[in-house]
Amino acid sequence: MVTLRHAQERIDADAWRIAAAVPDPEVPVLTIEDLGVLRAVDVDGSRVRVDITPTYSGCPAMDAIRDDVILALTAAGYDEVEVRLVLSPAWTTDWMTDAGRTKLEEYGIAPPSGRAALGSGPIRLTLSVRCPRCGSLDTHEVSHFGSTSCKALFECRACLEPFDHFKVH
Ligand SMILES: [Zn+2]
Repeated sequence: MVTLRHAQERIDADAWRIAAAVPDPEVPVLTIEDLGVLRAVDVDGSRVRVDITPTYSGCPAMDAIRDDVILALTAAGYDEVEVRLVLSPAWTTDWMTDAGRTKLEEYGIAPPSGRAALGSGPIRLTLSVRCPRCGSLDTHEVSHFGSTSCKALFECRACLEPFDHFKVH
């Protein structure tokens, strides 16, 4: 028996799927679901409310993401789409999905290494950043700011290629 509640859950899942497919403007192989930016989707009739949490404060990509979520859901037939920026709790790279980490590496960007949540004090586990091209761990940071503020520029000593590393935070 399909209850109203079940029907509602299916509608919510559809809206989630549509919002989840919106790509990250900076790394288009990643969706906002991969990034862990998509937090909640609530459907009420033809109205949808979407909660997203920005990866980095002032990340200019968030405006583009918000517009894309509104466009995607409007195109799917939802009349009213509200996108809320939820700033607390703050996004961390831990929210990035395993699928997202794999896609990031295949794209040539070293995924965030380690877990930001390990230890809440100033001491953090630092792990070597693996070169996404040759897999070498013999890499070093060239610049703390890569192509965007979300990434650091690294260089591999084995294959001598520079690459972006998605910073852990
Ligand atoms: Zn390399």
